[in-house]
Amino acid sequence: MMANEGRPNRDDGRFHVSSRLAGESLVDKEVIAGARVDRDVIRMFPELNVLKIGAQSVIDRGRAAVLPIVDEVISLLDRYQILLGAGGGTRSRHVYDIGLRLGLPTGLLAVLGSAPSEQNATMLQALLAQHGGVRIPKDHFEEIPLYLAAGCIPIVTGMPPYHYWERPPLTGHLPEHRTDVGVYLIAEVFGARSMIFVKDEDGLFRADPKKDRSAEFVPEISVSELRQHDLDDLIIERACVDMISRARHCRAVQIINGLVPGRITAALAGEHVGTVIYQDGVDWRKELVKEPSVSA
Ligand code: ADP
Ligand code: MG
Repeated sequence: MMANEGRPNRDDGRFHVSSRLAGESLVDKEVIAGARVDRDVIRMFPELNVLKIGAQSVIDRGRAAVLPIVDEVISLLDRYQILLGAGGGTRSRHVYDIGLRLGLPTGLLAVLGSAPSEQNATMLQALLAQHGGVRIPKDHFEEIPLYLAAGCIPIVTGMPPYHYWERPPLTGHLPEHRTDVGVYLIAEVFGARSMIFVKDEDGLFRADPKKDRSAEFVPEISVSELRQHDLDDLIIERACVDMISRARHCRAVQIINGLVPGRITAALAGEHVGTVIYQDGVDWRKELVKEPSVSA
């Protein structure tokens, strides 16, 4: 039970600290359910737009794909706060393959898989340096307000730092939480205005369009519908869909084709130009780009 609140002890006039959770296992169902934020959860960066720049889908394609996206991002900086997260791409896949052949455990694969996403973030930073691109490791996230106020573009690695602590996957040995999850969770915890995945297809199809050219496009879909379809392959990580289902802030994401000029601009303007995946029950049109005042 969560009973005793911290309060001054009137007898001796001193403040005696007591924690509602002291002595609790933090496993008790009632304690867990009752441990809630009493007010709206703070949106730390309500004007921030988080863009995941895909690596296999975009960065690995080199100049032809990356430079127009960089230029489009630069053109938007006078209107929007933007944070970029980088994917890992083919180099991550290569190291996973070598690691699997060597019999390395999942947690170590997660460590290895994060390096290419760091490399990609560093490359994006170099391309954006003269426009205020700044690489921000997680220990410096507290400085992001300063950089945004100065008109900079924070650039982060997409890989979440679960590393050795990556949980054992349901099947196989690949880490389930990769760069889609990592960038998405930044948007979620920051209470960002929007979360946009920039990839090389128009969004989600009923099958990988690279393998089935006749696959049907899905303009918008809820998490439970997506789970019901049980598609063989998806354009974002399955673990990311799970995160959307339990989100407190980032309840709708849009996946767009970054190879088409203007799509990022349209998505930031709140237009529906890709696939929206949204939490069951939410009005996704209101969640696509959130007004700064809207809270959880
Ligand atoms: P990233 O570069 O962000 O890591 P990925 O390459 O991992 O992106 O994922 C994007 C790719 O997912 C697309 O290029 C597409 O070929 C593939 N894909 C697989 N299944 C689907 C699907 N159902 N709908 C759309 N794309 C899909
Ligand atoms: Mg990927």
